[in-house]
Amino acid sequence: MSIISVTEGVWKCVGPKAGPTVCVIGGTHGNEQTGIEVVKRFADMAERGDLTLTSGVLYLILGNPRAIERDARGSIDHQDLNRRFTDDVLHVLSDGTYEDVRAKELAPLLVEADISIDIHATNKPSVPLLACAITPRHEQIYRWFTCDTILADPDYVLGGRSCTTDEFVDRAGGVGICYESGQASDQSRIDETIISIQNVLHDQQMLLDGVVSHPPFIHRQEFTLTQAILLTEEEFRFAEGKGHFSFEPFAKGDVLGFEGNRPLIALYDGVFVFPKVKEHWKVGSPVCYLAQRR
Ligand SMILES: [Zn+2]
Repeated sequence: MSIISVTEGVWKCVGPKAGPTVCVIGGTHGNEQTGIEVVKRFADMAERGDLTLTSGVLYLILGNPRAIERDARGSIDHQDLNRRFTDDVLHVLSDGTYEDVRAKELAPLLVEADISIDIHATNKPSVPLLACAITPRHEQIYRWFTCDTILADPDYVLGGRSCTTDEFVDRAGGVGICYESGQASDQSRIDETIISIQNVLHDQQMLLDGVVSHPPFIHRQEFTLTQAILLTEEEFRFAEGKGHFSFEPFAKGDVLGFEGNRPLIALYDGVFVFPKVKEHWKVGSPVCYLAQRR
């Protein structure tokens, strides 16, 4: 089987028979090494002949090469490729930001995808999680990941509108999955992620060799994103001991933080999700999200 370089950071493997099209993406945020390593290792395996597709098409994608180059989230500060896959992405002008242009370049591949798996990592500590819609079609794919936490975002709290790779693929009729492998500095899940993806491909009859024949039995905890805490012109600070890690629980009535001097009080029992390190804070953008158990 051959592996073809399609464009910068994109490789395509084609099996001998028709079958599903799968995109495996890493480095949508350039400082999240696990996904970058997973994509590179799949490309190496394909090159060496250690990954033989029996059917279908596999795209291996390094999402944001310029961000990967600078080991940062975006090509410049506060740029975010994973907020660019909007309805009008294909109509972006070529003089947009680098992220706009890259999203436009990748969008046709995602439109083609039956399945996309975009691998991310968090900037504060977090258990690994699957961020995607919770439907039987999605479960067919994510059940191969040894990960017990799922975060759905049916109201597009994360980006304010449909704008991530998984949301884009879902809207094009495929199944989009985002897998967060834990905190970005923790690169211990590279092998495990490769195995999970190999099992997905095997399950799709795209690979002869699966690693296991049955998905792991996992009791999953399901959460729904409920709101973003946006940074305003007023200073924000988390309450003492709060906002340190994803899925840190809070109870209704707890003070979560302060906007200026005003306490932000929890209206329900929930958890913090994706609290951002301070260098990613920007007025008008989230410092953290809140979620509730489903
Ligand atoms: Zn990311």
